Amino acid sequence: MLSGSSLAFLTLLAALVIPAYLGLCVLWPLKLCRACRGRGRFQSRVLRGVRVCLDCDASGLQLRAGTRALAAIRESLQARRNRNNRR
Ligand SMILES: [Zn+2]
Repeated sequence: MLSGSSLAFLTLLAALVIPAYLGLCVLWPLKLCRACRGRGRFQSRVLRGVRVCLDCDASGLQLRAGTRALAAIRESLQARRNRNNRR
């Protein structure tokens, strides 16, 4: 069980880390693809065959998880705003 001071520390840590991460997602929404490490393709060593990376559609970049979360929040706020304007 967490004591009161460690719970307060974890809350303070989350209050600092989460806004910093979301700010990073606003400034740099894309990251290098984990599967192909930003190359966008895989190359076979044996026959020099090239295969396109399907995780990033050959761009070598992927959206960060926080960027997707921010987009979902933005969409739900937009949907709520549209619902309220219709009334
Ligand atoms: Zn990739």
